[in-house]
Amino acid sequence: MQDKAMLEARIMKLASIILDIPTQALDVPYTYGVSDQAEDGDYSIEVGCAVVVPFGGRQAVGFVVALSEASEAELPDGLDPEKLKFVKRAVSNPYFDEEGAACAQWLSERYIAPLSACVRLFTPPGGVPRMVRAPQGYWRLEQPKVGEVDDLWAMLGPEAAGFEPRSNAAKQVAVIEALRAGDMRVADLAAQFGNVSPTLKSLEAKGVVRTERRRRMRGMPDGGGFGARTDAGHGGVAADDPAALQSTDESAKHVAAHGQAMVDSESAAPAFASRATRPTLTQGQADALAAIDQARARKNGSVVLVDGVTGSGKTEVYLRAIESALSEGRTACVLVPEISLTPQTVARFRGRFGDAVAVMHSRMSDGERYDQWDFVRSGAARVVVGARSALFTPLRNLGLIVIDEEHEGSYKQDSAPRYHARDVAIWMARRSGAAVVLGSATPSIESLYLAAKDPLWHQVRLPERANGRPMPEITIVDMAREFSSGSRSMFSSQLEQALEAELAAGHKVVLLLNQRGFAKFVLCRECGFVPTCPSCSTSLTYHERGNMLVCHHCSYRIGAPPTCPECGSPYLRKFGAGTQRVEDDLNALIASFASLGGVRVPVIRMDADTTGRKGAHQRLLDQFAAADAAVLLGTQMIAKGLDFDDVTLVGVINADTQLHLPDYRATERTFDLIEQVAGRAGRANLEGRVLVQTYEASAPAIVAAAHYNRAHFLRDELPKRKALGYPPYVHLANVLVWGEDEELVRKHAESLREDLVRHAFDYGGDDWRVLSAAPCVIGKLRNAYRWHILVKAPLEADIAHVLVSLFRARKPDRAVSVAVDVDPQSLL
Ligand code: ADP
Ligand code: ZN
Ligand code: ZN
Repeated sequence: MQDKAMLEARIMKLASIILDIPTQALDVPYTYGVSDQAEDGDYSIEVGCAVVVPFGGRQAVGFVVALSEASEAELPDGLDPEKLKFVKRAVSNPYFDEEGAACAQWLSERYIAPLSACVRLFTPPGGVPRMVRAPQGYWRLEQPKVGEVDDLWAMLGPEAAGFEPRSNAAKQVAVIEALRAGDMRVADLAAQFGNVSPTLKSLEAKGVVRTERRRRMRGMPDGGGFGARTDAGHGGVAADDPAALQSTDESAKHVAAHGQAMVDSESAAPAFASRATRPTLTQGQADALAAIDQARARKNGSVVLVDGVTGSGKTEVYLRAIESALSEGRTACVLVPEISLTPQTVARFRGRFGDAVAVMHSRMSDGERYDQWDFVRSGAARVVVGARSALFTPLRNLGLIVIDEEHEGSYKQDSAPRYHARDVAIWMARRSGAAVVLGSATPSIESLYLAAKDPLWHQVRLPERANGRPMPEITIVDMAREFSSGSRSMFSSQLEQALEAELAAGHKVVLLLNQRGFAKFVLCRECGFVPTCPSCSTSLTYHERGNMLVCHHCSYRIGAPPTCPECGSPYLRKFGAGTQRVEDDLNALIASFASLGGVRVPVIRMDADTTGRKGAHQRLLDQFAAADAAVLLGTQMIAKGLDFDDVTLVGVINADTQLHLPDYRATERTFDLIEQVAGRAGRANLEGRVLVQTYEASAPAIVAAAHYNRAHFLRDELPKRKALGYPPYVHLANVLVWGEDEELVRKHAESLREDLVRHAFDYGGDDWRVLSAAPCVIGKLRNAYRWHILVKAPLEADIAHVLVSLFRARKPDRAVSVAVDVDPQSLL
């Protein structure tokens, strides 16, 4: 028996740990004790590291999110010291710091997501240690397969200058000759000269050659970035130094000392400025930059919305704002939609900031991403350019977060945690005193709304292109009229004529086939009528089974009418042509153009099928750039970022498919798409024009887009959103229910809906709405039937905070899965 007084005096070290087990039920950190023995392993127990702990009769991996001390008599949460379990050992260096730990916990609440999935965002690409069950039944730890790699390098040594190899030592002569041109990997020497180890060994003994191990950065042409290793094993570079998590400047200098990094916080700006010629800013750009610098100076997470037309020079504004942040010794994170993360985009940032730029996107291999992640962690990277997930790289001392094309739906992750990068960026910026820059030619309605209401938001406008060129004229082509005049082609006569004229002149054409209309809707080809739900005002989706039209918000359904209820026409068609078919028709059309005199014009098709392989996307763009007259035919992926001087015609083959998706954002997306794709035309000296084919020639989104008149669009759209109860006037949460048994899913969804109604009434208020459970538009996905329940809460309400308790308390069901999508980007 221990003496009671002694027990009370004993101070225990405690660790709060998130178990790496993805279930809703484990969504609080667990407290474990930290004994002195546990501290003796290869790694020390710190916030952010992976540890092995006992859990439910076995061992599990978890992540430390907090460390504390308490007297054994007064453990937190009434923990019984007798039952306290202890951390076995740490199994990694820290992946994140206290800020990362706080962010993971916030994400889990804000998006009602499993804690383990949230904390995983902060771990390096390529995985974390995990416990696996051996066939014999015991559990063992498996370290991730992806990690750092070293190369052995050879270089001339101190005795090289006066050294004369014997003339018959041909290999020595060759190796020394090669190294005079610069340091080389031993592997590359061997590839060139065969086995070089004896040669290197004898030269090294004479001091003529030196060898050392250097960290390799995969995916980088020179393997560079980290600098030399001083030893062959662990340690040596800042990347291995846990102190790197605290001190950015120290670690940057550490790498600089190895002759690679060029960043020194005091002299950053002049060094960067000399890297590339910088254009003189336009007045608009200068104003935008001033607004961003002021926002940064406030250090309170201010947001600057840079509302600039396509080609207005937003990127230049970002570059200058980043320069300012770096010159103060802070760092910057730039998010770009995955599809725009091309070599050219990266080159613009590397051109200005050189090797201080880390890049992160999903088309890189795990090894490449691991190296970039570790490069950020080392503190040597000062700018991260990447897709959504780049936000979670261990960049310290953050001064600026830039989100380009902020309206893009891809900033919302569509699996848990279903976070929106914009909202996470703002949270991070408020905590770290950074500023957020959101850029777009078509800002989201949510952002425009906040810019008008929220004192922390500021909007700056760049209404003109940086080079002074006018925006291309947009003409609407009424396909219903085209049809009634007898044409059955998917190309209007206007588009045909324009195509022929531009191609004959040797210019380039971009054609957009809007493919988001995969959900088949019905459209009258004579009057343009589309059946819609009487209570939701979204279009009804055609279901072959039962020949039905169904509303995917509220389950309203009617039989598909044989003729148009509006005009009686029998030409009631389901919609949705594939790019392949359009390509065939387009080739036939071009072959018929007399003025081309039989010259073959390449049609480059860009869609999910042709861009699946690594590098395919870029190859197709290069092909288009290299051609004279050519057509780039593609889906949404071609709408943004393309910057080709000689594109004089942009055609939108079908502007309406999107308009009729049963999603309240459909009209906004249509407006955005037309503005974005129009921005591809007439960017340099040649004048551009845009033809938009549509069966809805008078739809406000289309008319407004054709006049570049956002105010007109908003005047039509906002009252509808308000009346129907959609953002920006309410908070939405979309509760998804899915499983393989259709009947179970339906029952589950319906009973969950009842729980939600009760919960919203008890903890929300009577201005909350819980819509009926309904099948999703994409009713079946990977063999799972999908239903959803839409929850609407007033703006003042914290929708996630109210709902989270319901979902945390639910018992998991093996047959039916449930997830909550807070602020859904898509309701499909
Ligand atoms: P955005 O991102 O707004 O679409 P970009 O930043 O791509 O626009 O700029 C469009 C073009 O204008 C680019 O070719 C860019 O180099 C050029 N540009 C940007 N700023 C200036 C400027 N101040 N003077 C001249 N050209 C500029
Ligand atoms: Zn009709
Ligand atoms: Zn409805």
